[in-house]
Amino acid sequence: MSTLSALPVTDQSALAIEGFDAPEHRLAGTGLAGLAETTLPREKRLEAMRVGELGSIHSWELSTAVDGPGTRLVVFLAGCPLRCLYCQNPDTLRMRDGQAVSAEDLLALVRRYRPVLAATGGGLTLSGGEVLMQPVFAARILAGAQAMGVHTAIDTSGFLGTACTEEMLANTDLVLLDVKSGIESTYTRVTGRALGPTLDFGRRVVAAGVELWIRFVLVPELTDAAENVEPVAAYAATLSTVTRVEVLPFHQMGRDKWATLGRPYALGDTSPPAPELTERVREQFRAHGLVTH
Ligand code: SF4
Repeated sequence: MSTLSALPVTDQSALAIEGFDAPEHRLAGTGLAGLAETTLPREKRLEAMRVGELGSIHSWELSTAVDGPGTRLVVFLAGCPLRCLYCQNPDTLRMRDGQAVSAEDLLALVRRYRPVLAATGGGLTLSGGEVLMQPVFAARILAGAQAMGVHTAIDTSGFLGTACTEEMLANTDLVLLDVKSGIESTYTRVTGRALGPTLDFGRRVVAAGVELWIRFVLVPELTDAAENVEPVAAYAATLSTVTRVEVLPFHQMGRDKWATLGRPYALGDTSPPAPELTERVREQFRAHGLVTH
């Protein structure tokens, strides 16, 4: 889940970011540069994926001020079990659309960028798609990055939280948890899935003592009702390791991708929220004592 900015429409091989971050924060759209596709035959690939030596990657990029503190090397894994109406990167939803990349190659990329990440107080963020679609691979990358002294983060909807082992959590410094709605029926309308696993995963993250950022995508006439925001804020306030809430205003940067993919897009006529609405929602979180951006 990530979180939210639109990748170039022309980059159909690339993986989806689950975010609505302001594009000026993106330093570079680097696609898959530096990551070679594996040459393993198909049957060996499946085994390598099972043990986490291979992952399906959509793309990677450098970002700053989003996806975690400092400059981030953000890796977008392919595949997602949710079908959010507002997904800005519908080209990242299927694991088979990603490129098979070895953990070794990806960790070499992390090593290459380690100096710049360290100099800015940044690190590695695994996003998607949904990072927990490939938990064994993700766990291997997180462990390898932490062993290099690189700060690690995952951006997730938490829907597949049971796939995250305690060991994987121990190798994660920060979880960016996307809570897409507070009312169960609205959550299901937005994502096609149930809300409970997300809430359970957030509690597990707290029990493991891992820092949490909560993200909420604000979509007019979909997620903006005060009674839909309130349970998210109340929930976040119960989580002792939450240090930040991000209210992410919906935008239309992904609209053309839906058309390019020939898939129906339900929010084609939806406008970004007015600044007053965004502020009202942020204030709802602040009223619970949460540091909110
Ligand atoms: S469907 Fe939802 S969770 Fe999946 S990548 Fe898109 S916005 Fe993120």
